[in-house]
Amino acid sequence: MFHNNQSDITTEQITDKLNRPLRDLRVSVTDRCNFRCVYCMPKSVFNRDYKFLAKKELLSFEEIVRVVKTAASFGVSKIRLTGGEPLVRNDLEQLIEWICGVDGITDVSLTTNATLLTRQRAESLKQAGLQRLNVSLDAIDDKTFKAVNDVGVGVQSVLDGIENASSAGFESIKVNMVVKKGLNDHSILPMAEFFHGTGQILRFIEFMDVGNSNAWDLSHVVTSREIADLIHARMPIEPVEANYKGEVAKRWHYKDGGGEIGIITSVSEPFCGDCSRARLSATGSIYTCLFASSGHDLRAILRSGDDEALMQSMRKLWQAREDRYSETRTQVHVIKPKVEMSFIGG
Ligand code: SAM
Ligand code: SF4
Ligand code: SF4
Repeated sequence: MFHNNQSDITTEQITDKLNRPLRDLRVSVTDRCNFRCVYCMPKSVFNRDYKFLAKKELLSFEEIVRVVKTAASFGVSKIRLTGGEPLVRNDLEQLIEWICGVDGITDVSLTTNATLLTRQRAESLKQAGLQRLNVSLDAIDDKTFKAVNDVGVGVQSVLDGIENASSAGFESIKVNMVVKKGLNDHSILPMAEFFHGTGQILRFIEFMDVGNSNAWDLSHVVTSREIADLIHARMPIEPVEANYKGEVAKRWHYKDGGGEIGIITSVSEPFCGDCSRARLSATGSIYTCLFASSGHDLRAILRSGDDEALMQSMRKLWQAREDRYSETRTQVHVIKPKVEMSFIGG
């Protein structure tokens, strides 16, 4: 047991088999999305015949908060809401307000494609207590962006969302760009140039082999080294220290004072050793790794109303955890089906 000064609660610290604590919980609130990004929810799979979850299968906000409380009692302080597209779920503000009220939770953030982020929505999210926003944007020209989202949405609608968030008082909004060779790698420099000097931190994410629908291949990955070299040749950058242990993005500063970029090196330099994240699916399954093939179903326990059993279950599954997929991906010879990114939200 240790005392968590920030929140004044007593927490039971649990560690997994590789001695990693549980610190961070990502909560997917829906499997639906208004985009069909070709690397995440390709139309060939996520079309009219695809069976999205029925409302009754989704965890209610009350149930999500009970999982958050349990996680907080094990030392989780950070919650990230994700999807699918989290803003398609009505009344998300209510959930945020409740999560912010949980003892021990000090950081609540949201990952979104920002197309539903009107000024009013941004303000109500801020008012509910949301602290940080990550906006996904994979190109700065319409042609490429439309080829990625595959639903004909232009870049301006995302930029408007970012602007609305900024006017509502969200500081240091992070913009995430997944880089897939042949799809949007020609957008690396234009994106860097666009966000240089804006105060918004652009983060490049190496394309990952999550899920089974995106036909991933190592040859589609542009490595962190390649991205950094490309940017450095145009706008010199230098590495900076991580903000905290376990930070997933490698940080770089522009030497001319134009701000910061980050590169998430999930493929070329995996960071499993510091991975303290669990993921909760919209149906109430906990995944202890982004690349897991199955989750641990908590919904039945949640619906039985037994919070002691919920604690025991979460403790047990974290203590049994030995995932380190990214460090072993090249040695994995038996290909198992993996959970889809749109189901657990990245
Ligand atoms: N819909 C929201 C959005 O796009 O921000 C939240 C959910 S989305 C699954 C979360 C993040 O995962 C997005 O930034 C997306 O680009 C990223 N992502 C999806 N598939 C990916 C893949 N195969 N490799 C790397 N990142 C991926
Ligand atoms: Fe939707 Fe986000 Fe997946 Fe794109 S990356 S399809 S916006 S869930
Ligand atoms: Fe964590 Fe799994 Fe990603 Fe490794 S591969 S960093 S264990 S989620």
